[in-house]
Amino acid sequence: MDKNYEIVWQNCLAIIKDNVPTVSFRTWFRPIVSTNLERNILTIQVPSPFFYEYLEEHYIDILRKTLRKELGKGAKLEYSVVVDNNSLSNTKPKTISFPAKSNTDLRNKPVTMPLVKENEIKNPFVIPGIRKLHVDPQLNAEYTFDNFIEGDCNRLARSAGYAIANNPGGTAFNPLFLYGDSGLGKTHLAQAIGIEAKSFFPNKIVLYVSANKFQTQFADATRNNNRNDFLHFYQMIDILIIDDIHELAGKKATQDIFFHIFNHLHQSGKQLILTSDRPPVELISLSKRLLSRFKWGLQADLQAPDYETRLAILNRKSYKDGIKIPNEISQYIAQNIFSNVRELEGTLISLLAQSTLNRKEITLELAKKTISKLVKNTKKEVSIIQIQKVVCEYFNMNIDLLQTKSRKREIVQARQIAMYFSKDLTKSSLSAIGSEIGGKDHATVLHAYKTVRNLVETSNEFKVYINEIKRRLGSDEL
Ligand code: ADP
Ligand code: MG
Repeated sequence: MDKNYEIVWQNCLAIIKDNVPTVSFRTWFRPIVSTNLERNILTIQVPSPFFYEYLEEHYIDILRKTLRKELGKGAKLEYSVVVDNNSLSNTKPKTISFPAKSNTDLRNKPVTMPLVKENEIKNPFVIPGIRKLHVDPQLNAEYTFDNFIEGDCNRLARSAGYAIANNPGGTAFNPLFLYGDSGLGKTHLAQAIGIEAKSFFPNKIVLYVSANKFQTQFADATRNNNRNDFLHFYQMIDILIIDDIHELAGKKATQDIFFHIFNHLHQSGKQLILTSDRPPVELISLSKRLLSRFKWGLQADLQAPDYETRLAILNRKSYKDGIKIPNEISQYIAQNIFSNVRELEGTLISLLAQSTLNRKEITLELAKKTISKLVKNTKKEVSIIQIQKVVCEYFNMNIDLLQTKSRKREIVQARQIAMYFSKDLTKSSLSAIGSEIGGKDHATVLHAYKTVRNLVETSNEFKVYINEIKRRLGSDEL
């Protein structure tokens, strides 16, 4: 009797183990079992088509060498790949067999590779029927670095992003965690990194995915019993961009699988780019172990652009659309829309639309009208009573309690928070605020303001309250 397939494979593994990083060994070789040895053809079983792809792409040399060492020059390798074709039925997973590409040069004669059949591929972005793993990066061609205007508001994030594009996985910025309010360019910048990296390294697998889509895919994979394929697919990405990671709040199972993907990619020197509407310390509804990972690399925030940057963005945008806007008009827009680039663009688009539809010239008057409509819709004056209402709703507390003399902790705190926002968001004087909130004097209001500000700086939990209330105050629901 010749050699036993198990022993042959064990011997191969022993050599491979010394020659590849431990993590890779654990990921890619541990799950393999050998199933057959006929003459000089060793068959190994791998858990999914992606394993097969990956091994062929990355480890074929070492596989070939070790196999030859064990079985001599004519050694051949065959994969049997487990495919759960129809996971809804309870049939046992089938296997299909592929010869290793390296068999070709061992035998010196070409082998035609069977195509992976469409329904054998379960991974969400793979184009079916194509042998080589092909992943559409899901990038928007408009979101380039060229189109991303640099300013003080984004300089750190932008330059870190650029460094990453030039050396993905090779900088200290891994993961890159981009955060900031809505409409400030997180998605644009994250995609710019992907586009630039792809142009430098066309062979790298880049993927942009929103956290929501990731979550849906994972739910589908779970339902269809394809979790392994899902995991393996994501573990093969070289540059993974996940947008709006805060959306994973409360989604524990998705966070768990992302944790594994994160670890695998990070350990293999792959690049991760994440975006969020707030910094990691404020993502309190994400698991602690995930948050600690987010802090490994660089956290960079995007802030609201200053006047010069706003002007530059407007000019760039109108230039790209082939429209000349008089300077005084872009200046007027830049002066009046300041918190959000999306609104800045929105104003411009709305102006263009009106001028073409009504065949009017873009005049300062038209600009003023457009903006006043926009501003009216987005910025409502908040009143002290509205603030008290929102604060009390947030803490689930009867609003009348604010007016009592009570010194109970929760009531004092709610009162202080209401005072804090009233000073920040209204034009009322300290004494006016005090008299409306519990009949206090201006010194009490000032004290409350300072207390809240200190707490925001020292307590993350408190900061989360404040930010959430702020969000609610800024919403249209008032
Ligand atoms: P976020 O993801 O932070 O909500 P986006 O990336 O979607 O914001 O940006 C909103 C819009 O503003 C996009 O059309 C984007 O191209 C544009 N934008 C944001 N920042 C810049 C910038 N610095 N230069 C040019 N355009 C920008
Ligand atoms: Mg976005």
